[in-house]
Amino acid sequence: MKKMFINGQWIESESKETREIINPFNQEVVESVTEGNEVDTKKAISAAREAFDYGEWPGTPATERGLKLFKIADLIERDIEELIRLESLDTGKTVTESEADMQDIAGVFRYYAGLADKHGGEIIDSPIPNSKSKVVREPVGVCGQITPWNYPLLQAAWKIAPALAAGNTLVMKPSEITPLTTIKVFELMEEVGFPKGVVNLVLGAGATVGNELAVSHDVDLISFTGGIMTGKKIMQAASTNMKKIALELGGKNPNIVFADCDFETALDQALNAVYFHAGQVCSAGARLLVEDSIHDQFVDALVERVKKIKLGNGFDPETQSGPMISKEHREKVEQYVEIGKKEGAKLLVGGARPDHSDLQDGFFYLPTIFTDCTSEMTIVQEEVFGPVLTVERFHSEQEATKLANDSIYGLAGAVWTTDIQKAERVASKLRMGTVWINDFHPYIPQAPWGGYKQSGIGRELGSIGLEEYTELKHVYQNTDPQPLHWFK
Ligand code: NAD
Repeated sequence: MKKMFINGQWIESESKETREIINPFNQEVVESVTEGNEVDTKKAISAAREAFDYGEWPGTPATERGLKLFKIADLIERDIEELIRLESLDTGKTVTESEADMQDIAGVFRYYAGLADKHGGEIIDSPIPNSKSKVVREPVGVCGQITPWNYPLLQAAWKIAPALAAGNTLVMKPSEITPLTTIKVFELMEEVGFPKGVVNLVLGAGATVGNELAVSHDVDLISFTGGIMTGKKIMQAASTNMKKIALELGGKNPNIVFADCDFETALDQALNAVYFHAGQVCSAGARLLVEDSIHDQFVDALVERVKKIKLGNGFDPETQSGPMISKEHREKVEQYVEIGKKEGAKLLVGGARPDHSDLQDGFFYLPTIFTDCTSEMTIVQEEVFGPVLTVERFHSEQEATKLANDSIYGLAGAVWTTDIQKAERVASKLRMGTVWINDFHPYIPQAPWGGYKQSGIGRELGSIGLEEYTELKHVYQNTDPQPLHWFK
């Protein structure tokens, strides 16, 4: 049984309860983990509080903090095979997908390792004679960090690396469905060696462990990645002590294809945009907008390609897409498909579970396409988070941007055209945190990631991802203090 890491020790929950971690490909139990609760979370928070308020970590030179992050990256690469195995067992994603995640994760740790000692303060040229003014960046304090199940370790790395680089202490709560790789990285962090209480891991449910982190008066910042409804709850809970909040929420990301695109490339990438990791990606291109003059040809070609997508075991090199994460999540996707049909969208392909005998134990769902979609439809507006593509038709550049922006979300979007001026014009009009031109999905640790509108608050990655974990302090010094004689 896997345990939690609190105050430098691996411990079981005081409740003695456990949770089984299931492989979504065949529903076999992969591992059993201790199930933490509010009491355990309070212990972890007080360890992190103690380590921040009285420990050496916040005052450790930033270069040394960076060196520890470099070591984490090295250990991730040393144990990459094990991490890939655990991530694919836990999420069902293909080994190729998990491998790409692990390489990115090592890259994120290295990026923040290098940045740790390069984000010092600023000397201000004070307008007041005989004074010195400087602005310093200090760690925020105790950080609560909550991650989702779709990119378990990647999302954890985006939070752990900048928090530690800036000198904070942290309590991480991974998704209760997919904690295995996060547990493994805490083992690696134990090997690297951090002072007691700097890094803490609590395993358990959102309503208990997650909520305790959000309401606690001893947590200074809460960083959350997950669904919009949970984000709203966390925002409310965080108001208890006005803690800083960073929210990475969902998306309903438009993929705009103009008639003058490179047809084959746009087609190929439209598939990747939506069906990668069975569509369980916050930035999935689940909303395809195609210019009228190529709409029918594009959709016909898509349908042909979609029929060939090979579902299967993530460990089989032939597999192109794994299962959905859980029974409940697949049922949610199925309900959306039913709503789509009722609202008048035309189901062209998919819309059912596969009938292949090898796939019956897994939570599989066929890649699905709806056409004749309009922006009023629920399946166009809400995040389905599965292998379901909606296709809309547009007639002009203006209509394309209007449709693309007609959403409560603003996480990401893409535009496909060989007219680069048009691409830049459209990119400038899209109200989204990331816009891809003639591409879909890439992100880099050096550039910020996050959402406009209800896709979130704040940014991860890039130098701003480090700044989110700092407070700014202005230190003003009078170099020649004299009585003021203001009050006679
Ligand atoms: P979720 O909101 O159900 O859960 C996310 C995490 O929050 C889990 O660890 C869960 O235990 C915890 N949680 C649940 N209720 C809580 C509460 N009341 N208080 C505190 N914590 C609570 O999301 P999910 O289903 O795990 O993940 C899918 C969602 O994540 C999608 O909406 C997806 O778009 C989003 N996501 C966003 C990004 C991004 O970068 N913007 C990245 C990945 C996933």
